[in-house]
Amino acid sequence: MVERVIPIRKETREGPLPLIPETLSEAHGRTLDLRHRPLRDLRISVTDRCNFRCTYCMPKEVFDQNYPYLAQQELLSFEEIYRLAHIFATLGVEKIRLTGGEPLLRKDIEKLITMLSEIKTPKGQSLDLTLTTNGSLLQKKSAQLKTAGLQRITVSLDAIDDAIFKKMNDVDYPVSDVLNGIEAAKNAGFTGIKVNMVVKKGTNEQEILPMAKHFRNSGVTLRFIEFMDVGSSNGWNLAEVLPSADVIAMIHEHFPLEQVDPNYSGEVAQRWRYQDGSGEIGVISSVTQTFCHECTRARLSTDGQLFLCLFATQGFDFKTLLRSGKSDLEIANAVMHTWSSREDRYSELRHLNTQDPKRADRKVEMSYIGG
Ligand code: SAM
Ligand code: SF4
Ligand code: SF4
Repeated sequence: MVERVIPIRKETREGPLPLIPETLSEAHGRTLDLRHRPLRDLRISVTDRCNFRCTYCMPKEVFDQNYPYLAQQELLSFEEIYRLAHIFATLGVEKIRLTGGEPLLRKDIEKLITMLSEIKTPKGQSLDLTLTTNGSLLQKKSAQLKTAGLQRITVSLDAIDDAIFKKMNDVDYPVSDVLNGIEAAKNAGFTGIKVNMVVKKGTNEQEILPMAKHFRNSGVTLRFIEFMDVGSSNGWNLAEVLPSADVIAMIHEHFPLEQVDPNYSGEVAQRWRYQDGSGEIGVISSVTQTFCHECTRARLSTDGQLFLCLFATQGFDFKTLLRSGKSDLEIANAVMHTWSSREDRYSELRHLNTQDPKRADRKVEMSYIGG
């Protein structure tokens, strides 16, 4: 029998201090990385904790009561998150997604949302402020989130069958509560709600059609995500990836589809609509059709490390910079400098990286860096 070795380590990994150039320039949104990609999106992880134990993300055997979660003082405060987000907006970021862990577990998250909703881009527009959640707290929190200024919500749901869903979240959480959470979000006034389903071959591919059926005509856009090799503990295996092309073929056979143009350049989901007008679906093919060439996204971990790629092994320590009395202009220059040296394109090189055992077990966990 081959034993699975699961590395256990503290997920706080302070990276190098970002460099502040000697000559400071004015903050601007024209910085391109080494592959000519601008910085447009920021994902902020507000907690590394979660009330689910999805087997592909936070497997129970690793994320147990002995797991070294971040301590309160290691987390960025709301003021620190706001300050960084504001700086990022001056640098061309137009969209912020709050994530985690489970972002709705962060105490007073609605206060942070109110603060972030006040940030304007240099052109005077509000940020596109959105959040990804497992839906478990939406019944309780949807109205507060809406009032606080959250614009959009994405809910993760991997099956419509209770037994399969419970097996995947591994905490016996029922589908009905997530569906009620989605209804609560609709009732609170959220529109354009998206549902993300991670498809794992051999685990939930039989749920593709039932999920499609359930969400047709609902106004909710269902998106199928290929199971990714994020982190070092989910036992990823290419054999468990069902290519998005197969998902589309499977649905098309029952409910004919046609492709739709992207909403904007750099949109990660490929869009399809039902020919009978009953709605839209999307596929995110991170493994079989990489989109690194147009990836404009940075990620801020719960403890203030800036990651330039979901699959990076190290971030840049903006928390220490924030706490060392640097000015906004100095921090903005550090971000511009960091971004201008970015060359990450992990998915394009996946075939090389997944075979590199040294890299494979140094990748940071998705619950820490934010999905
Ligand atoms: N807890 C929240 C949730 O589940 O929506 C937010 C954080 S979660 C890390 C963000 C998204 O990442 C979820 O939609 C989840 O399904 C997805 N995800 C986590 N691990 C993944 C993996 N190995 N492959 C593909 N997607 C994954
Ligand atoms: Fe929690 Fe989301 Fe990861 Fe599931 S995918 S364990 S809900 S952080
Ligand atoms: Fe962006 Fe990295 Fe994903 Fe490529 S692998 S799309 S660079 S986050």
